[in-house]
Amino acid sequence: PPLANHRILSNLNDAQRRAVSSNAATVAILAGPGSGKTHTLTSRVVWLIDHVGYRPEDVIVATFTVKAAREMKERIGKALGDGREKKIVLGNFHSIARRYLAAYGRKIGINQKFGIADDGDSRSLIARICKRKEVTLDPVAVRAWISKKKAKGNEVDAKPVGQKAIKTAGEKDLEECYNEYQAHLKKSNLLDFDDLLVRCVELLREFPSCVSNIQTVLIDEYQDTNGIQYELMKLFAQRHKRITIVGDPDQSIYGWRSAEIQNLWRMLKDFPGTDEISLEQNYRSLDAILKLSLLVIQQDKKRYQKALKPVHGRGSRPVLRRLKSASAEADWIVSEIRRVIMMSGSMLTFNDVAILLRSASLSRHVESALGKSGIAYRMVGGKKFYERLEIKAILDYLRVIYQPGNNDALARIINVPKRGVGDVTIKSLLEEAESSSLSVWTILTKHCRGDRTAKTKIPKPMEQRIAAGLTRPLDNIRRKMEEAAKPGGVAFGLVEIVEQLLAALNFQKHLQDTHPDDHEQRWANVEEFVTLAGDFVRDLNESSADELLPEIEGLEQSKEDEVLPRFLANVSLASDAQTGEGKENKPLVTISTIHAAKGLEWPVVFVPAVYNGSIPHMRSDDNDEERRLLYVAMTRAQSLLYLSCPLFSTNGNGERNQLSSFVEPVHRAFATKGPCFDRPVMLEIAKVLGRTLPTEDAVFKALPSMFNPEDNLFPVDPEESQEVPAGGAEGRTSHRDAPRAKRPRLSNM
Ligand code: ATP
Ligand code: MG
Repeated sequence: PPLANHRILSNLNDAQRRAVSSNAATVAILAGPGSGKTHTLTSRVVWLIDHVGYRPEDVIVATFTVKAAREMKERIGKALGDGREKKIVLGNFHSIARRYLAAYGRKIGINQKFGIADDGDSRSLIARICKRKEVTLDPVAVRAWISKKKAKGNEVDAKPVGQKAIKTAGEKDLEECYNEYQAHLKKSNLLDFDDLLVRCVELLREFPSCVSNIQTVLIDEYQDTNGIQYELMKLFAQRHKRITIVGDPDQSIYGWRSAEIQNLWRMLKDFPGTDEISLEQNYRSLDAILKLSLLVIQQDKKRYQKALKPVHGRGSRPVLRRLKSASAEADWIVSEIRRVIMMSGSMLTFNDVAILLRSASLSRHVESALGKSGIAYRMVGGKKFYERLEIKAILDYLRVIYQPGNNDALARIINVPKRGVGDVTIKSLLEEAESSSLSVWTILTKHCRGDRTAKTKIPKPMEQRIAAGLTRPLDNIRRKMEEAAKPGGVAFGLVEIVEQLLAALNFQKHLQDTHPDDHEQRWANVEEFVTLAGDFVRDLNESSADELLPEIEGLEQSKEDEVLPRFLANVSLASDAQTGEGKENKPLVTISTIHAAKGLEWPVVFVPAVYNGSIPHMRSDDNDEERRLLYVAMTRAQSLLYLSCPLFSTNGNGERNQLSSFVEPVHRAFATKGPCFDRPVMLEIAKVLGRTLPTEDAVFKALPSMFNPEDNLFPVDPEESQEVPAGGAEGRTSHRDAPRAKRPRLSNM
């Protein structure tokens, strides 16, 4: 091959360059956070397409989250500069699997109009099954058990997973739940998240030609693949066996979803001759952040050790703050955010700040504190938007339009808007559907046609309301969709579907009637939803990669993968959906779960609720995984990191929270009051972010206008200026040669 000389190589270090241009069939990059793994992987994709000459449609790139996939596509797009990235098969495993199933699933008996049961759907289905069977099982635990069973390719050790709730349950109960669960999905033509992967494996085993064009497969965040995903990876690459994986065992945080670190070692064994490359320089964080994060992860003595050296300055020591309550903690975070922005002379903005939570349920206090203070925020990983009542209803209508046989969705909206259909009738309809081979939809349409053979009795006036408000309008919409699909038909797109639906339901009036207090906000959400639908269609049109997969000789592929099912799948698979993206480009603080923050970075990171029970979480029985989770959170920070812990728990019984056992041993290595904002530190911060620090004069000029006399802008922390060795770390965290306070500080001037 020609001498490696491509512009993509120019801004990489030696190890990265070697990884990008490696000629080995299999390449494995194992390295710590911020070492440029993702950066290297994207560069390799560009290299393979632009230098080696692979066709983009023959390259599969699997990432972990939808957001990561989007960012990666953008980066590749920028480097290629000619739009070729649109053809790459790029997404998370679930969305890639869904596309193959939508295109070729018919071959293995999948009804091509399948829908997706997301985690919430699965859980509520399991809850219903448990209730009907009168077994007391925690649906979350049963879901995890079923998932494990499927992920392991059915060879489960029948021993239930660790959850306490499930240990008491008989295996028989679990098996029965499983069977009923599967039967229900099958009947409703739904695939759950695990099915997407399992069935795709089945497809690719039986019909390898579906992926015969694939030249190479690249996987980011490899440490979090599970057994089934590993299988998929091998199947994707079965023809040429060219695979690049990138990962960090220290950041494996999906064990509860059956991710197996073993896959790393398995890969090296299954593919002898793998080119193993390690990256040892951390480009992301200032050294003080990196050191403390390493102190936390090094508590795990069994871990696979790797070197990780900072390339940037030391920065300010991370802050550990204890506050009285969760609401005091949230207030402190808000005032700290304002202070940081002010001290940076607005070099930092709200966009640069992330608040990372162990569980989404912790967001309440933070949200209300931000709200009070007028700071806008976006939520990641909380699915909040799609879970709003008014949005859920519209989504359920769309599901029923797409799949009339989706009894669960239909049952949820049969009385929304109110048609006088009570719970008894709904229950009876569901039972009738269960015991007959009819769907609830069919039973209803029978009624509306005057056919009285159905068992469920529906009074005439109710029947009329159902016909006028539900079955007829939906039939109408479906008819228009069919018309539009015919050659020369009048276009009837997703937005038109939603708009017609809203009009037919008189949805705005429905919101006014049912939510007199906040119907305006709710209607605004509905309008936002219409915008999202429009954006989705536009994105789809722009990105040819989401077109059907390449035509393959001898394999007939279905052409029915239309916009509506793709939109619904997108909603279901967007577990890291992000909402609140302001239209007017207002800077927003990010609130995210730690899980959804994987792979990302922010200049300023807050990790609240660092106490035992929260992290490690009380429901988790894998302490090491919880520690890795904290490590992931801490290593997201580029220049400032804050941990905090409310002293008392919110449950009102005055119980004291204990500082997380991961932080306790190293708590003396933290600053307690606040970070140091002196000029040298601010310059280091500017440098790691590649920004220009405003002059001291400019900062000062900005201060008075932003200064609120109530704010304690310059809390004095005696400990901060002292060198305190971290517990057991032999002073390795004492970063400063000279005590901080001796340097000129803004606060002293
Ligand atoms: P994580 O384990 O958290 O996913 P990662 O190893 O994937 O981290 P990246 O996100 O790829 O790390 O890179 C971290 C930061 O370092 C990014 O901002 C990236 O642009 C930057 N970076 C990576 N390599 C270099 C380099 N050679 N020169 C300058 N900046 C780099
Ligand atoms: Mg990464």
